[in-house]
Amino acid sequence: MHDSKQIDAQGFAAAANAVMILLVDDQAMIGEAVRRALAGEEGIDFHFCSDPHKAVEVAQQIKPTVILQDLVMPGIDGLNLLCAYRAEPALQDIPIIVLSTKEDPQVKSAAFANGANDYLVKLPDSIELIARIRYHSRSYIALQQRDEAFRALRESQQQLLEANLVLQRMMKSDGLTGLANRRHFDEYLEIEWTRALREHSQLSLIMIDVDYFKVYNDQFGHVAGDDVLRRVGAALADSCSRSSDLAARYGGEEFAMILPGTSPGGARLQAEKIRRAVEALDIPHCRPETGSPVTVSIGVATVIPVAGGSSLALVEKADNGLYMAKGNGRNQIGVEQ
Ligand code: GH3
Ligand code: MG
Ligand code: MG
Repeated sequence: MHDSKQIDAQGFAAAANAVMILLVDDQAMIGEAVRRALAGEEGIDFHFCSDPHKAVEVAQQIKPTVILQDLVMPGIDGLNLLCAYRAEPALQDIPIIVLSTKEDPQVKSAAFANGANDYLVKLPDSIELIARIRYHSRSYIALQQRDEAFRALRESQQQLLEANLVLQRMMKSDGLTGLANRRHFDEYLEIEWTRALREHSQLSLIMIDVDYFKVYNDQFGHVAGDDVLRRVGAALADSCSRSSDLAARYGGEEFAMILPGTSPGGARLQAEKIRRAVEALDIPHCRPETGSPVTVSIGVATVIPVAGGSSLALVEKADNGLYMAKGNGRNQIGVEQ
């Protein structure tokens, strides 16, 4: 990608000095005269089109940096032809020098009004012709380069924007499970705590811990253990029913869910949903005494925050519920009263 950009830049620099002229004139004699005037000029390509009806098509093919254009030609109005170039997006900025037989202010004025950039009475001497061709070509190429630079700038700004979004998402999410990470959990809990304080609303928190996970790791290895954490994480994410609920990996084999605007009863129902969802994964465990699959213990707590309080108290309360669940035999929900 780097290389092709470099080649593009080189191609662009080479093209920057290349003049490509399209002369549209029904008289072959004029074509010959201009060709001769340009003979020996460095970096000028010359293309002659004697059929004005094909001028737009030819211009699209050869992409001139300047068009020399006769006004009086059989079967076509030269002024209309000027407009025809301007109607094409690819041709609308190409400089047009009208080559006319008439030194007539009205004709000149009409030519400029229809999109001409310059006007010469033919045939001008070659010094003047070449100077004007070079001048118009240069300014056209500069315009193209500026447009290209703006386009590249916009593109890299867009890429930067997208990279930043990806980075932001990565900063907020846990690499193993894709859930919110601890940092995001802490921020979100603080935000929702403050909101609940302001609105005098209920804020619930669920803490989840995988049962006998050390034994699982010891038996099946950490790779299999990681897979369990991924699957439990996915079950948690699936169980989130409101957009304001946040499922997070709290650390190690502990997960958490923040439930804004949720009552104790609602939080308990949610916890039961999670407990059952993990059990239903039916991941074989190795505890011979039970033969049961991988399960989780859950602590639930709800508060209506008061000024001077802290969200840490909510975490502690949910943690206490979790320890109760563990003490009472695991695979259940504990609520500290
Ligand atoms: P309890 O039922 O009381 O929760 O028992 P437990 O064995 O689950 O609890 P303990 O806290 O003793 O052990 C937790 C284990 O979780 C220890 C550690 O090896 C494992 N663990 C923590 N983080 C990860 C992880 O990212 N990947 C894997 N595979 N294991 C982890
Ligand atoms: Mg633990
Ligand atoms: Mg555990």
